[in-house]
Amino acid sequence: MSHPPSTARTALITGAANGIGFAIARVLAEQGVRVALNDVDLEAARQAAASIGPGHIAVLADVSKEEDVGAMVDETVKAFGRIDILVNNAGIGDGGVATLSQSLERFEKTLAIHVNGAFLVSKAVAPGMAELGRGSIVNLGSVAGQIGIPARTAYSVAKAGIAMMTRVLACEWARYGIRVNAVAPGYVHTRLVAGLIATGRLEEGRIRARTPLGRMAEPEEIARVVAFLASDEASYVTGAVVPVDGGYTAFGGAFD
Ligand code: NAD
Repeated sequence: MSHPPSTARTALITGAANGIGFAIARVLAEQGVRVALNDVDLEAARQAAASIGPGHIAVLADVSKEEDVGAMVDETVKAFGRIDILVNNAGIGDGGVATLSQSLERFEKTLAIHVNGAFLVSKAVAPGMAELGRGSIVNLGSVAGQIGIPARTAYSVAKAGIAMMTRVLACEWARYGIRVNAVAPGYVHTRLVAGLIATGRLEEGRIRARTPLGRMAEPEEIARVVAFLASDEASYVTGAVVPVDGGYTAFGGAFD
């Protein structure tokens, strides 16, 4: 159902030019939400925003930079009047290298984008939500933040941090009417995973064999759960880290 612009819910999605973030933008837009698509790649975000229809905007920021984040949130509030939904989606892989070969620089960069990014954007958006007395934040976690996966140190630590930030902020900001949840996807067909597969650091066949549903996810399958958590349908859900992983983390051993 679409709403007139003045009453439509509004959302800011980070890293929305590609992959899961773009799918979240499409699903929310279909539900009548006005979407601000953030990315470090402004041109790609512009094209993504235009492709989902009129009324959506692209906003530039590197989410790990505080001054960028402030300007992005100001720009979004100026355009939409308020932010009802924030999705902290922007992220990078950590290279998928063994810990003994991982550089401190790459380790810190991974944490900066995932953890500092979610911290900075949440902190910048929350006062406006608190003023409204309502808001919904959804963070992108990962199976890698829930169970140990070799050669994913930085990424896993970042996603475990996201899961705990979700719980802490849910408890801290419930008094302002802000719900904070996360999804923890398994392996999803996006360029992030395509890069790992192309360079031999991930075998899709092994992922399929390890996943009870026997396949990887499509971005829309993650986006639909994010849209549910963002909506009033999930009005009593906060502090949850919801697995959307085809049973990957439920699976404890061999099938036979
Ligand atoms: P993607 O590479 O397809 O898209 C990520 C987007 O984030 C890109 O458009 C990129 O330009 C943007 N981005 C990167 N750094 C940024 C920054 N500093 N500021 C703003 N934007 C930035 O990746 P994806 O697979 O769609 O991943 C999206 C999120 O989902 C990430 O947080 C990722 O960790 C998480 N995730 C992905 C999978 C998967 O299998 N693909 C699984 C679990 C979790």
